[in-house]
Amino acid sequence: MTVTAQLRKVFETDKLIRGLTGRLDGAERFLAEQLKQQRDVDGKHTAAQTTLRQLKAQHANLEAEAGGHQQRMDKLREQMNAAKNNKEYSAFLTELNTLKTAKDEVEKKQLELMEQIEKSEEAFKAIEAARAERAVIVEKAKADRASRESEIKDRLAELKTQRAEQAKAAPADALKILEDLLAKRGEDAMAKVEEINRRAHEWSCGACMMALTVQTINAIAAGRLTRCSNCQCILYSEDEDIASKKTPKKAGKADL
Ligand SMILES: [Zn+2]
Repeated sequence: MTVTAQLRKVFETDKLIRGLTGRLDGAERFLAEQLKQQRDVDGKHTAAQTTLRQLKAQHANLEAEAGGHQQRMDKLREQMNAAKNNKEYSAFLTELNTLKTAKDEVEKKQLELMEQIEKSEEAFKAIEAARAERAVIVEKAKADRASRESEIKDRLAELKTQRAEQAKAAPADALKILEDLLAKRGEDAMAKVEEINRRAHEWSCGACMMALTVQTINAIAAGRLTRCSNCQCILYSEDEDIASKKTPKKAGKADL
C-alpha cells in the first residue's frame, strides 16, 4: 500500500468521525442557544416579579394612608356632632374638607396604581407562559442531545480505534502533514485527482480545481506523497496507475 493510500484511510475515517460528531455539535449548539434564551426569560421573570411586588407594596401603603385619613375623618364627624359652638364646628369642618381632599388625592393615586398593577400582571403572565414554553424546548433539546450522544457513542469509539490503528500504520512524517492539513482545512485536507481529458493529459485538483501537470500525475502514480502546488492538499487517485493508462475505462468519459 502506498503512503497516499495509508493516509487516505485515516482521512476517510476522519471524515466519518467528523460527520458523526457534527450531528452532536448541532444538537449541542441548539441546546446552548435554548439555555441562553431560558436565562434571558428567567431574568425578565425575576424583574417582572420585583416590579409587581413593588407596585403592590406601594398600593398597600396608599391604602393604609387612605384608611388613616378615613379614621381621622370619622373621628372629626363625631367631634362635629359634639361641637359646642359654630366656631368649633367650622374648625372641624375645615379640617374635614382638607382631609377629604387629601384622601381623594390618595385614592386617585391608588386607581392609577391599580392600572399599572393590572398591566404588570398581564406582562408577568405572558412572561410566565414564555418561560414554560422555553422550559419544554430546553428539555427536548437536552433529550435530543443525550439521545444523539448515545446513538453515536459506540460507532464513534469504533471509528476512533480504527483511526488510531490506521494512523499508526502510516509513516509518522506523512501523518503529521495530514494531521496539520486536517486541522487547517478539514475535508479539503486530501483531494481526488479529477480527470478532465485523459488522452490530452488534463487533470485537476478536486479541491481547488487547479490544473495538474503530468509530472504531478506521474508522482501520484509512482506512489509518492504528492500535494497540490496551489492549495497544498494531498492528492490521490482512485486508480493509482492513472498516468500509465492510455485508454479510458469507459468510452466517452475521457472526452467530457
Ligand atoms: Zn488544489
